[in-house]
Amino acid sequence: MDPMFTMEQLVAELNKYSYHYYTLDKPLVSDKEYDVLYDQLVALEKESGMTLPDSPTQRVGGELLKGFAQHRHLAPLWSLDKAQNIEQLGSWNARATRLVADYNSKNPHNPLPELSYAVELKFDGLTLNLTYTDGRLVQAATRGNGVIGEGILAQVKTIKSVPLSIPYTDGTIEVQGEGIMNLSVLESYNQTAAEPLKNARNAAAGALRNLNPRTTAERRLSAFFYNVGYSDDIQFDSHKEMMDFLRDNHFKVNPFITYFQNFDDVMEQLQDIQERRSSLDYLIDGAVIKIVDMRTREALGYTDKFPRWAVAYKFEAEETTTVLESVSWEVGRTGKITPVARVAAVELAGVTVQNCTLNNIGDIERKNLKHALGTRVFIRRSNDVIPEILGKVTEESDGEEIIYPEHCPACGFPLEQRGAHLFCNNRLDCKPQIIGKITHFASRDAMDIETFSVMTAEQLYNELNVREPADLYTLTFEDLIKLDRFGEKKANNLLASLEKSKSRDLASFLFALGIPNTGKSTTKMLADHYRDLHAVMNATAEELIALPDVGGIVADSIVGFFADPFIKTGIEKMLSLGVEAKAPEAPRVVSTDSFFSGKTVVLTGTLHQLTRDEAAEKLEALGAKVTGSVSKKTDLVIAGEKAGSKLAKAQQLGIQVIEDEDEFVRLLNAEA
Ligand code: NAD
Repeated sequence: MDPMFTMEQLVAELNKYSYHYYTLDKPLVSDKEYDVLYDQLVALEKESGMTLPDSPTQRVGGELLKGFAQHRHLAPLWSLDKAQNIEQLGSWNARATRLVADYNSKNPHNPLPELSYAVELKFDGLTLNLTYTDGRLVQAATRGNGVIGEGILAQVKTIKSVPLSIPYTDGTIEVQGEGIMNLSVLESYNQTAAEPLKNARNAAAGALRNLNPRTTAERRLSAFFYNVGYSDDIQFDSHKEMMDFLRDNHFKVNPFITYFQNFDDVMEQLQDIQERRSSLDYLIDGAVIKIVDMRTREALGYTDKFPRWAVAYKFEAEETTTVLESVSWEVGRTGKITPVARVAAVELAGVTVQNCTLNNIGDIERKNLKHALGTRVFIRRSNDVIPEILGKVTEESDGEEIIYPEHCPACGFPLEQRGAHLFCNNRLDCKPQIIGKITHFASRDAMDIETFSVMTAEQLYNELNVREPADLYTLTFEDLIKLDRFGEKKANNLLASLEKSKSRDLASFLFALGIPNTGKSTTKMLADHYRDLHAVMNATAEELIALPDVGGIVADSIVGFFADPFIKTGIEKMLSLGVEAKAPEAPRVVSTDSFFSGKTVVLTGTLHQLTRDEAAEKLEALGAKVTGSVSKKTDLVIAGEKAGSKLAKAQQLGIQVIEDEDEFVRLLNAEA
């Protein structure tokens, strides 16, 4: 095909996408898809030696919106050169090294120092350029086309971490950073928002470029600052000095900046950042490598589009678009019906994605997906989490309707809608519910019935009519030996495990029952507080609410659960068959003078030297309170391997964190 024709098409398409992305803050494709087309255009331009005048490779940013006053930046704002892989990064470094050598050969009396590098996170938000005159914030602007941006001072003033005045009062400076929305803020915003936001980047950009600053304020944005782009008369020798200046002037500077002399160490750091990515409370799409020495920066200079002294290393995309093909409905152990979306297979962050979660029907409505079958949707996959659908690409209702089931897909029972969820109330007869319940009952943190699996539950359901956990304790050797794949040994093993489970403690038994909205830490707390099964069963909602970590919903769930005659009968049957469900004898002696005494501690991530349960037990014996979620009340977070959002939240709240497991174990033992 004629390369000129292809180029024209690519330019038109890319410009359309840029307009939706930069100007409207409503992208039509993911960055990944945009970048593929952009790279094709770059390759074609290189091959043909031609560039169309409106090619996006010649521009920084997008069109300005009407309605905002324009701001001419005192120094241009640049884009960043990009490296997609290690080779491209290597060529960037080789070029910089060569340019420094050239310079030094021409200036032997005043050579540039050897290259050293700063590595920063590349935040995915909206570029901000703040103007301070004599110490006061007088303007804030978007990057716009790099030369002129939109004045968004009123909007930026709603960001609490942006200083309105600074100690430095000698004339005018311009400071650049990135306006972002924290992921935890996005999550809580979306929990109550009429229209959920699909992505933190567009949420931040859309809020900052909203003509009504009240809308901006509602999004509770934040910002990180990383550059002094212009100043009347302050000069810096190095990036470090510039960062110190920013910190001293009360700008929020991201703590993850590292400095290296050696380029191999830079590569290693990139790997490290990549691993940290999913635990951060904000989006990043890569890392930025900058040369530290300012004279070197000046000597290397700029192309039309970007500085030669910096490069962005892009990480693998976590978002893309694909077609929503169908929705099926799964029944969980509490009878909750969960929609599961099937999408056209697409590569994302190293795997082929075909199934995505949709949470519930409320979610389908809020994400405007009710009429989205057969249309393009944005999907996101970060780390090992199940991919989720973020929303429909276009606003139109141009797809087929997702029909909600009226009857249980498993048993045909009429469904009931409670809040955003559909439920099947057929507890006695709905197979997936019963199998889910029994499997949960037998699981390790519950009754810990060894060798029990979903397959066992299914077999017992199908062939021995096991319909509730209590039925497990009526099984006999004669029953089991008749079953397929059950030899004498397996039958005896199962019976022995069941026998052993009868003496599981009260906390595990309460957890095994699967009370809705009640996790392990709550059942443990109930057991510790009441120390008796019937006392828990008879507790009133008022009584329960007075307990730590129990709110109205949890209290009602517990009371409602034990009020159910079917549940009560099941429990009494288990007790009559020998299940003890007792709290351990004599309460533990709790130490009051250890490092951990009186502290509220959260355990997260994987520990290697002991299990989290063992750690929790030890901590409690040392007088700590172990809870499940990080809040302002948390004193200490123990973060094992692959710690995720809890660690991020702790860092954000400035809570003490122990990441070194050896250190943690040492503290535990030191105090024992
Ligand atoms: P860029 O956004 O990738 O890089 C430059 C920007 O990086 C700067 O303006 C700055 O705001 C930001 N940045 C973040 N952290 C930084 C740090 N520590 N130091 C310096 N700068 C930092 O470059 P660009 O040319 O504006 O944009 C291209 C990007 O926009 C691509 O990722 C592309 O995929 C995306 N895009 C997407 C669409 C779409 O339709 N999805 C359309 C156009 C562009």
